[in-house]
Amino acid sequence: MELKQLTEHVYYIPNFTNIGAIRNGKKLILIDSGLDSDTAKKILKTINDKNFHIEAIINTHSHADHCGGNAYLKEKVKLKIYAPELEYVMIENPLLESIFLFSGAMPIESLKNKFLMAPPSKVDYVIKSNENKLIFDDVEIKIVKLPGHSPNHIGIAIDNILFCGDAIFSPKVLRKHKIPFYIDIEVQKQTLNYLKNSSYNLYIPSHGEPIKDINSITDKTLKLIDSIEETIIEFTKEAKTTEHIIKKICNSFKIEIKNYQQYFLTKTIIMAYLGSLNNNQRLNVQIKDNQLFWKRI
Ligand SMILES: [Zn+2]
Repeated sequence: MELKQLTEHVYYIPNFTNIGAIRNGKKLILIDSGLDSDTAKKILKTINDKNFHIEAIINTHSHADHCGGNAYLKEKVKLKIYAPELEYVMIENPLLESIFLFSGAMPIESLKNKFLMAPPSKVDYVIKSNENKLIFDDVEIKIVKLPGHSPNHIGIAIDNILFCGDAIFSPKVLRKHKIPFYIDIEVQKQTLNYLKNSSYNLYIPSHGEPIKDINSITDKTLKLIDSIEETIIEFTKEAKTTEHIIKKICNSFKIEIKNYQQYFLTKTIIMAYLGSLNNNQRLNVQIKDNQLFWKRI
């Protein structure tokens, strides 16, 4: 692992989940903590080797690949964990993440893996929805609301660089996942439009390379969202079940579901689209013969 310096205050460790680091004297404020204790151990060594000390972790959201290192780092170092409202509940009670994926029921064992459930960690400071900055001594960090991928996802800005978590995915990640994980399509569109109109010097997504030209990514993503919506509308001329729609989207976007985790994540994404199309009066929902159907309006 390498701690790369970008500006006076901004560093980051490129990794499967990129880790941001903001310098406050000899102390660092981390943005996210990686997938697990193995990753956290390497992060700690990288930081110790540079004679820095971790003062805090700010979690952008509650997904396990962003807060999976919290528990290890908190055990080894005296630090404070910061997380947004709602997201902190999941960080402290990670089983909830799997319960939500499994429609609110106690999940099957294969949904209780480390990619879905981080070790629990106590959040010391809950970032309220109306808070737009955090101050550490003389260092002021901006909190930027970027919801849509998760309910209260945040970005962190300093020195005109925005750590944008999973609010955007690099082109490589988009190509790999084909349909990105969003739980609220309308809100995610607003987030993408905010990013499109923003003018940070650099955007650091959690997965993939830093991005200079944000417009090409936001445009590509907005277009992709549009085409998923239109595929659903096109397909629901006749009433279709959720399972039919999942299959149709997977076929259209060349996705092969290989395991239960991928199935439930895909289903959640599709539910976000169905909910949003229904809220926008483009899709009707109806029950017939004890089955739930979606039909375009
Ligand atoms: Zn995420």
